[in-house]
Amino acid sequence: MAYYKIKTLNGDIMDTVYLDNAATTPVLKEAFESMQEYFMIHYANASSAYDFSQKSRSAVDTARKQAADLIGAQKDEIYFTSGGSEADNWAIKGAADFFRNKRSKIITTPIEHHAVLNTVEFLKKYGFDVEYIPVDKNGIVDLQKAEKIIDENTAIVSIMLANNETGALQPVKEIALMAHSKGAYFHTDAVQAAGHIKIDVKDIKCDMLSVSGHKFGAPKGIGFLYKKNGIEISSLIHGGSQEKGLRAGTENVPYMVSLGTASSLASLNLQKEYTQTKNLRDFFENMVLNSVPDSVLNGSKENRLPGTSNISFLGVSGKSIVSALSSKGICVSSQSACASKSDSLSHVLKAMDLKDDVIRGAVRFTISGRNTKDELIYTAQTLGKIIKTLRSF
Ligand SMILES: *Cc1c(COP(=O)(O)O)cnc(C)c1O
Repeated sequence: MAYYKIKTLNGDIMDTVYLDNAATTPVLKEAFESMQEYFMIHYANASSAYDFSQKSRSAVDTARKQAADLIGAQKDEIYFTSGGSEADNWAIKGAADFFRNKRSKIITTPIEHHAVLNTVEFLKKYGFDVEYIPVDKNGIVDLQKAEKIIDENTAIVSIMLANNETGALQPVKEIALMAHSKGAYFHTDAVQAAGHIKIDVKDIKCDMLSVSGHKFGAPKGIGFLYKKNGIEISSLIHGGSQEKGLRAGTENVPYMVSLGTASSLASLNLQKEYTQTKNLRDFFENMVLNSVPDSVLNGSKENRLPGTSNISFLGVSGKSIVSALSSKGICVSSQSACASKSDSLSHVLKAMDLKDDVIRGAVRFTISGRNTKDELIYTAQTLGKIIKTLRSF
């Protein structure tokens, strides 16, 4: 059923059912194999002058093209970073510095990833005012409110493409237009969307877009920022002249290669993966909603990523469900991985103005095309038993 067995705290060995693909994904075999020769054979610094480094340099070049193709960008608009968090930090801090003393407002939403939320919070120290565009009950930003909030004093508007807890897709095209009409930059965190749904930066008309490799089959610790040519931002990492002098640090050639391979595979298989994932997700979601009493779907049903299902089980805490499922080898989250260690309730569901009981009972299932129907049936059945037990206390 599963790829590997895990050892639980009490020493049992069991199959894992991994339904937390929004937290991270396994590295794809091809993505792993393609990077291997760049560790011990073609290990030269990609920026060196001798012929030995040529292979590293051309590998980076190919990877950059593959990454660009994933989002309809040009090769020279891709800047490799250490991941999604760095790309988000760079886009926003870089724009804030560029507009320093000229524009002092930063606009985002309350449902962003903490890589964005904590970055804008940090910038308040430097005199920036932060405003949040509210979301509706489906977790989608309110365009009318956006229109009122975005003004000529706005340096940058940053709104995610797809939310990591509900999968809700945001009207980024419309917001990009509003931002541009006031002369502000528009950035989108596309970390959950990239590799899973079709993205075309020319269609969105974003100035910047963040991608992380480990959310679609590349290793953790590599990602990129798309920055449209002509858009100026300050550097975040100062040092050498890598990435056109904008992001210093010796190129992580193997990981760039791996990200390139994962990007190519994603581009190639996008439609097939989308349909397969969505069918599995709908199969699972219907099974759970129909078999578990007092279970409700959170967020937009139609307008969302293919693999995400955020379901609340009333009267039970999401955290207790997560740990009960864990003891059966099933991996899910009660909120995003980065926040799940803290005690607070999901900031995303709170922003959607859901009732406390609904927020408390929320569990996020993120399914991939690699999951099987058997795994999903096992999970739904286990879930039913667990919730019955938890409700009987
Ligand atoms: C995972 C994630 C990030 C952070 O990416 P890392 O590569 O882990 O730093 C940022 N934004 C969203 C929406 C994410 O899901």
